[in-house]
Amino acid sequence: MRAVQVERTGGPEVIELSELPDPTPGEGELLVKVAAAGVNYIDTYQRAGIYPKPTPFGLGLEGTGTVSALGPGVTGFTVGDRVAWFDVAGSYAEQVAVPAGRAVHVPDEVTDDQAVGALLQGMTAHVLVTATYPVARGESVLVHAAAGGVGLLLTQLANERGARVIATVSTAEKAELATGAGAADVINYTEVADLAAEVRALTDGEGVSVAYDGVGKTTFDASLASLRPRGMLVLFGGASGAVPPVDPMRLNAGGSLYLTRPSLFHYVASRKELEYHSGEVYAAVADGTLDIRIGHRYPLADAAKAHQDLQSRRTTGKLLLIP
Ligand code: NDP
Repeated sequence: MRAVQVERTGGPEVIELSELPDPTPGEGELLVKVAAAGVNYIDTYQRAGIYPKPTPFGLGLEGTGTVSALGPGVTGFTVGDRVAWFDVAGSYAEQVAVPAGRAVHVPDEVTDDQAVGALLQGMTAHVLVTATYPVARGESVLVHAAAGGVGLLLTQLANERGARVIATVSTAEKAELATGAGAADVINYTEVADLAAEVRALTDGEGVSVAYDGVGKTTFDASLASLRPRGMLVLFGGASGAVPPVDPMRLNAGGSLYLTRPSLFHYVASRKELEYHSGEVYAAVADGTLDIRIGHRYPLADAAKAHQDLQSRRTTGKLLLIP
């Protein structure tokens, strides 16, 4: 089968399409014929060595497809089931052996594209607005990179919970998408001199209850300065680079602020949590509450191009690789 491998870490040029033996499902594993693999920012961190892994390794964590065989001891799944997963290494491939404990059933109403578009990024958005900082009706929240994969879902879910979303984006096209997802105000953060001042002006000087920041290096200071007293900075990624060490006294100076650096994996570690968050997200997709925007579909052989596009801020919504 064909699979995307990384022999040494580096730029997108280290991505290789290889011919590998077909996987055999081990104890408790499902063999899945992949219909679509999800491209996520974390894949670029792993490829670049920012999140170190021993080489060589199979790239990609997320996918959806049909179960073609069962390993010994599998219960709750059968051949022909449609499943999806978000944390199985080597998912940019034609076939993947998926631990049954990490696979979720895909409802009939959810298409393959939606199943991938909603899982890692959708559960992240759901966790952030329900568990990391449970957003309440009437609160003002700041969402950076609001036209991105996570950003569009976060904007929709926060809006759905009755929050007023102040979104940031880098282009007029992205601003339109953020507005379409429910943002009340959109700021082009590449054009303003003082982002926090803009946010404060939009909140009568008070600031936002929470800043959801997956951009990191270039937005961190403005996120912190945009919070109301006792507000929370949820730093969930670093698309622009890693944030340097922070002096805790800055949290005090800003008004007894909270800072957290969450990872989805810690919120859906148990089967119960995984079923809860994926179930809520898929139900919202199925009933039309959550719109999944597929920004681009690439053939598996173009994985390097997908990474280039994602990292050069050219993309919106979800990127898929089709084996
Ligand atoms: P996106 O589709 O959001 O792409 C990243 C976006 O970040 C770009 O489109 C761009 O939007 C913005 N950006 C700002 N500055 C830069 C820069 N210098 N280089 C590149 N992009 C920049 O990606 P994802 O939805 O996959 O991920 C978004 C963030 O969420 C990432 O940081 C990722 O690591 C994080 N994440 C964290 C998870 C967790 O568990 N903690 C889980 C999933 C994602 P614009 O052009 O509008 O500025």
